[in-house]
Amino acid sequence: MKKPLRFNTNTIHGGQEPDKAYGAVMPPIYQTSTFAQTTPGGHKGFEYSRSGNPTRHALEKGLASIENGTYGLAFASGLAAMDAVIKLLSPGDEIISTNDLYGGSYRLFRKVFEPFGLHFHFVDMKDTGRIESAISEKTKLIWVETPTNPMMNVIDIRAVAELAQKHKILLAVDNTFATPYIQQPLDLGADIVMHSATKYLGGHSDVVAGALVVRDPDLADRLYFIQNASGAVCGPMDSYLVLRGIKTLHVRMQRHCENGAEIARYLRSHPAMEKVYWPGFEDHPNHEVAKEQMNDFGGMISFVPKGANYADAVRIVESLKVFTLAESLGGVESLAGHPASMTHASIPKEEREKSGVTDALVRLSVGIEDARDLIEDLEQALSSLG
Ligand SMILES: *Cc1c(COP(=O)(O)O)cnc(C)c1O
Repeated sequence: MKKPLRFNTNTIHGGQEPDKAYGAVMPPIYQTSTFAQTTPGGHKGFEYSRSGNPTRHALEKGLASIENGTYGLAFASGLAAMDAVIKLLSPGDEIISTNDLYGGSYRLFRKVFEPFGLHFHFVDMKDTGRIESAISEKTKLIWVETPTNPMMNVIDIRAVAELAQKHKILLAVDNTFATPYIQQPLDLGADIVMHSATKYLGGHSDVVAGALVVRDPDLADRLYFIQNASGAVCGPMDSYLVLRGIKTLHVRMQRHCENGAEIARYLRSHPAMEKVYWPGFEDHPNHEVAKEQMNDFGGMISFVPKGANYADAVRIVESLKVFTLAESLGGVESLAGHPASMTHASIPKEEREKSGVTDALVRLSVGIEDARDLIEDLEQALSSLG
């Protein structure tokens, strides 16, 4: 048996081989919808680019490799990847999901799939006991996002996986925030890993894409069937961009984590700060689980300044100069956002405040710039507080 390569090597070589035509080291962008056949059915492995495309195929093999999976599937967006997972289910089935999750995921569940007769239960999964009490014989899927967005709660993937296996329920983990550099959910017992590849995998804020990775061949077949039948595939150019991004994932993540730690500690020591959310703090409610399942703590941080209201939070994100005020995360450039009015605006106020997404909350995606410039930028923006 071939010795498995380490993660930092897999990001570059995992599932990759020089292109068959001319030995190109990077897979060419096969910008084609179809492939010539010599006789009906006589082709070289690809017929039509919805069903399969060599550039996408290279990305899919890379995705499988970095997540320690067997099969990768690349989609037009993270939500398209999630959409394919939910289509494994049938009307009447129940899904248990993290309660503080990406706003677009919540919207997809509630506004698109509930009308088709699926039932979603949103549970605070910090305590896995609450999941068990929500399980019925109709529960077919558990959806976990960890660390959660934007509250940075950490969910014990291994504990949820044991529960899911006991009740024969599929477990899917949205690994967008952590990336496989930090945690590999399949190794912790998950059945499906999902990514918004738009974020850290792509890493350069220049592409929208999504991914699924699984080990079970039947599950892979069913998901591939849906990918091809529904058609939300990742295009050749976008596949190339994500694959290119993945090659530097480990180097970027290392810096995201270093800068994240530095900025989290700076914010926490700031006299104007009420609360900083970051899983690396020893007094984070699930720090022990975080230490166990994560290799590092990432570059996503949320904070609430003391006595701040909606207007204060907006003023801070508007005053930042190195941080860009924008949706999204995971790119080389630092971004700041106001979840209540941006990423989480699609969640009703009452619902979002229950999970801590208050009007004063600010979320940072710490990039890979010089941390000193980022800290100076935060310093001047926080000085705008009264
Ligand atoms: C962005 C994001 C998504 C949705 O992905 P898109 O690529 O925007 O469709 C899902 N989950 C998380 C955690 C995200 O950050």
